[in-house]
Amino acid sequence: MTLARTWSVGLAGVRGAMVEVEVDMAAGIPGVVLVGLPDAVVRQSVDRVRAAVANAGARFPQRRITIGLSPASMPKQGSGFDLALAAAVLAAAEAVPRESVDRLVLLGELGLDGSVRGIRGVLPAVLAAARAGHRQVVVPTANAEEAALVDSVDVLPVGTLPDLVAHLTGRARLVPHVRGALPPESPPPDLGDVVGQAAGRRAIEVAAAGGHHLFLTGPPGAGKTMLAERLPGLLPPLDEDAALEVTAIHSIAGTLPPDAPLVTRPTFEAPHHSATMAALIGGGSGQIRPGALCRAHRGVLFLDEAPEFPRAVLDTLRQPLERGQVTIQRASGSATFPCRAQLVLAANPCPCASAAGDTACTCSALERRRYGSRLSGPLLDRIDLRVDLPPVTRAAWLDGLGAPESTEIVARRVLAARAVAAERLTGTGYTVNSQVPGRLLRERWAVPRASLRLAERALERGALSVRGFDRVLRVAWTLCDLAGRTVPGTDEVAEALGMRLQRVAA
Ligand SMILES: [Zn+2]
Repeated sequence: MTLARTWSVGLAGVRGAMVEVEVDMAAGIPGVVLVGLPDAVVRQSVDRVRAAVANAGARFPQRRITIGLSPASMPKQGSGFDLALAAAVLAAAEAVPRESVDRLVLLGELGLDGSVRGIRGVLPAVLAAARAGHRQVVVPTANAEEAALVDSVDVLPVGTLPDLVAHLTGRARLVPHVRGALPPESPPPDLGDVVGQAAGRRAIEVAAAGGHHLFLTGPPGAGKTMLAERLPGLLPPLDEDAALEVTAIHSIAGTLPPDAPLVTRPTFEAPHHSATMAALIGGGSGQIRPGALCRAHRGVLFLDEAPEFPRAVLDTLRQPLERGQVTIQRASGSATFPCRAQLVLAANPCPCASAAGDTACTCSALERRRYGSRLSGPLLDRIDLRVDLPPVTRAAWLDGLGAPESTEIVARRVLAARAVAAERLTGTGYTVNSQVPGRLLRERWAVPRASLRLAERALERGALSVRGFDRVLRVAWTLCDLAGRTVPGTDEVAEALGMRLQRVAA
């Protein structure tokens, strides 16, 4: 016979799923049995609950206790079930009224002293509780702001197990959390700060407008990182659903700033080339954490000094980037996360990375060629835009001294171009030019032969592959959307071709 039941939430990738916690008690040798696929961390939960209950001044029942977590088929990971387990045991022992926990959702880890600790993944958990029709969710105080992003449930923050017991027995009710005003957003880094580099600025505008992956080469100090950092600022802000989705990923990753829990802008993730596969893609023991690739969902993944990344790591990125999601397999189970990120690669022209240009470079021609070829292959093939940046002094001189355009102005053009593309692509399931398969692009929206002559010649010469030709076409459409034209002309095709034939200096 079930003596008490309450609720918690397990996470499957970025989605939460309700978990029912049931407690049975019987006469017999005192002890606790957990059933329903709990992982090692959940099993340790019993010890934490036992200590916390004792330290909270309640008695842990000296009976034979069976705790069931259902659905049994779903793996339960992490320490977030502690609070629900404690509440169910206390209800079964009649230390708190059973009906007080019957419909309640509880999230939180217990310290041995009875304190309630913050956990990762609170936002997706509370979203799941709301979807399942629950009205009240108890969360650790540390996660209250994040949990309160969900409007349709009462969020009850709790600091200690005794506070929870006082609430459940009606002695001192927990007060629903009211979300504070979101702090003013700090503006993203401005494109106006980039002096010179007209080609680089143009490239990130085009990348933003069409959602194209981008490859920047150039000597150190040419502004590759500066430019990449300014790409998210050119992308439209996340709408409400997207913001919750991205926030949920960062919640599970444990990378949400506590004072500003909602991610409203496309993110920028720049993992170092020494980063492990787990850090880049995702992994970890216990609850699977999304890596930089997933945290860059709907934002930008920047790989500086891309040739320094292990080849295997770069190859692993290709499929997830194409599919927009990645599944991470671990002994404890698997998790699927969305990762529709825009990729920006950057590379120096050679391994010695001399800032002064060719004269100071000590690399042989062979070394330079090898360095460039480290990146060749399937990943590079997915990149529509390739731009070689000149050293900054020469670039600034070439550009003259005109004031560069600000992010605000360029973002407005990007937004308008995206709107035109989305309109044209209505009904295809795609929203930006970079997503459109080459064949669909060629068949559905024919470009006049006359405009394509340069690209066709490059194809004949062998300077462009068939796939490359499609990429030129895609970029030409984005240039055409930015220019407010209805179909790409010779100028757009020529410019797109110029952004394709750039190579790592070899
Ligand atoms: Zn060199």
